Amino acid sequence: AEGGNRYALADPDSDARAISRHHLTHHLPAALKGCEFFIEYQPLVKMQDGSLEGAEALVRWSHPRHGVLGPDRFIPLAEHTGLIVPLGRWVLQEAVRQACQWQVRGIGGARPLKVNVNLSPRQLHHPELVEDTVAVLEEAGLPPSSLCLEVTETAMIRADENELRPLRQLAELGVGIALDDFGTGYSNLANLRRLPASTLKLDRSFTLGLQRAPADPVDLKIVEGIVSLAHTLQLSVTVEGVETSTQAEQLRELGCDSAQGWYYARPGPPERLPEAV
Ligand code: C2E
Ligand code: CA
Ligand code: CA
Ligand code: CA
Repeated sequence: AEGGNRYALADPDSDARAISRHHLTHHLPAALKGCEFFIEYQPLVKMQDGSLEGAEALVRWSHPRHGVLGPDRFIPLAEHTGLIVPLGRWVLQEAVRQACQWQVRGIGGARPLKVNVNLSPRQLHHPELVEDTVAVLEEAGLPPSSLCLEVTETAMIRADENELRPLRQLAELGVGIALDDFGTGYSNLANLRRLPASTLKLDRSFTLGLQRAPADPVDLKIVEGIVSLAHTLQLSVTVEGVETSTQAEQLRELGCDSAQGWYYARPGPPERLPEAV
């Protein structure tokens, strides 16, 4: 079936995966047209006072036959076929509209709530990224400073100056740029200076060693070092994957600015955000 006169040994497990990968790829465009995607929001919390800062938009696919699929199942496929561009635009539009509603309803108190949206490499290289983003913000009436785009460290360090320009333009307009999954991409630390980022999102793998007391002393030092470097470069630090109160307390003491994780709240429907924290 894969052509080229090849043979392969049958493996029912990988067969199931392969069929469903093919099947999923094939059905992505119709799923987008048929509104089968929805977004869950996971709170971002200010570590200083535990207040709600905003939320990250996380897309899901409500598949008519396979149930709810997480982004790891279909984002790579959408990235591969290019469907990520219209899908990503839809997520941005939805999330921005949602953030506007929160702001209008005064959720989060005096400070306007922010929304974080993930941007995949393919979107980063799309020529209309800046125009599209500005149009979406203007249409909804959301101030650029209430939006933060998350780009993985790996995608960002691979980008050359031309590819970074759109992010720089958005940053100049006031849009926040977060370096997502930081610590998994082997960036040259000196390189951080040239990136148009305002926030560093420390990957979950760095904070696993702090889940229980006493924390791993080396892990503590590493996080301390990253926080201090980030602050020197005027980046704020968000930690992801905080699951325990021990972790939360230590990360606060280490000077992390914001946090996200099951300890605070799991991703959920937008109506749940007001009661999240
Ligand atoms: P990410 O950006 O690192 O998002 C955080 C992931 O960690 C989410 O998984 C979230 O549910 C999970 N998580 C949050 N708190 C905890 C915790 O305390 N413990 C553990 N073990 N996990 C936690 P999710 O929703 O499955 O998303 C996976 C990835 O899919 C995201 O990773 C992001 O890279 C990608 N993604 C999600 N939505 C979009 C989107 O709209 N566009 C693009 N391009 N990528 C997306
Ligand atoms: Ca993210
Ligand atoms: Ca991560
Ligand atoms: Ca992340």
